[in-house]
Amino acid sequence: MRIVVFGDERRVGAWIGDQIVDLNRADPVIPAGLEAFISAGPPALDAAMRAEIEKMRLELAGDFCRACGYCLPCPANISIPMAARMGYLLRRMPWQQFLSKEWREKMALIDQCQSCDHCREHCPYQLDPPKLMRKMYEDYKSFCAEKESG
Ligand code: SF4
Ligand code: SF4
Repeated sequence: MRIVVFGDERRVGAWIGDQIVDLNRADPVIPAGLEAFISAGPPALDAAMRAEIEKMRLELAGDFCRACGYCLPCPANISIPMAARMGYLLRRMPWQQFLSKEWREKMALIDQCQSCDHCREHCPYQLDPPKLMRKMYEDYKSFCAEKESG
């Protein structure tokens, strides 16, 4: 089980098997799988987990969008904090939601970047969001094609 953030509203959920349990919902009943996870406490770190953490650390260092949103608004209406992280979202969350028509249209806006530099000038991490998003968009198109063919 993993704790995930999902949907446009960035809701918090527990990803159990092939389901996401919405932890923001009003229903106070904790699902059995989640209760067992909480009761078990944090797992001891073994070598495989440490290797995974190191892999993620390297992936997330450098050109990594922190989704802070300081780059907004974008005159081309690009969802920069999401688009600039799309490669990670596809691989760390249930990816199906990002292959919707709505998301394809949102990602296609990356091609409409007006090179106004607003995002570059306001990113506190000195990222180059248009360049990062172009890379993410290429990856996104490959990911979509792969899922459609498989
Ligand atoms: S440079 Fe492109 S992505 Fe950045 S704010 Fe301007 S239009 Fe949007
Ligand atoms: S591109 Fe920079 S300013 Fe925009 S959300 Fe990512 S880290 Fe924040």
